[in-house]
Amino acid sequence: MKILIASRNKDKVEEIKENLHGLNLQIVSALDFPDLPDVVEDKDTIAGNAIKKAVQCAEFFGLLTIADDTGFFVEQLNGEPGVYAARYAGENCSYADNRKKMLKAMKGKTNRKAEFRTVVAFASPDGLIGTSEGIVHGQVTEKEIGNLGFGYDPIFLADETVKTFGEMTKEEKHKISHRSKAIRKIIPVLKKYVRNSNNR
Ligand code: IMP
Repeated sequence: MKILIASRNKDKVEEIKENLHGLNLQIVSALDFPDLPDVVEDKDTIAGNAIKKAVQCAEFFGLLTIADDTGFFVEQLNGEPGVYAARYAGENCSYADNRKKMLKAMKGKTNRKAEFRTVVAFASPDGLIGTSEGIVHGQVTEKEIGNLGFGYDPIFLADETVKTFGEMTKEEKHKISHRSKAIRKIIPVLKKYVRNSNNR
């Protein structure tokens, strides 16, 4: 059975592939279809965006599809940037711009609680099959620590570790990340779907 990962982000595709390893699926990603336009992520929740991407791509390609959307929620900032994490410092901003704006907004604040949340949506060409959520709780650091990973990684310290995400190897981060948690949770749904399809 063939499955599409609806993402062009190499790191994400790699992380999702690692988690699907051993399921006997032929995995393709949006990286294999460079000419196609991106799905516009215009919903105001991460679940809305993940579902939109999965359903539209499954219908368009006629394939089982997995899509994800992630938000970064900072308690002191009333949950900002949340679903708008990619564009926190403005349209076309860089990851570094976002981190800089975040450190400035959090300067001197004592409540530094933050969390990454990912929603994964799984769809067939007939529509949505299921969703799952993965969360990592932590803190916004006071400065950048580490230069690995991407996005907010160098300014995020998960509660369960002593290293920021920016200091972790991919292997270390993938063991505890919000995205990996969400993917691991969707796997039983995927297995059930594959089993039922084989019995039809
Ligand atoms: P996306 O929905 O996965 O594209 O994530 C939206 C934004 O959240 C990205 O542009 C990053 O700034 C941030 N982000 C998502 N996942 C991670 C992560 O694992 N580490 C750090 N930042 C992330």
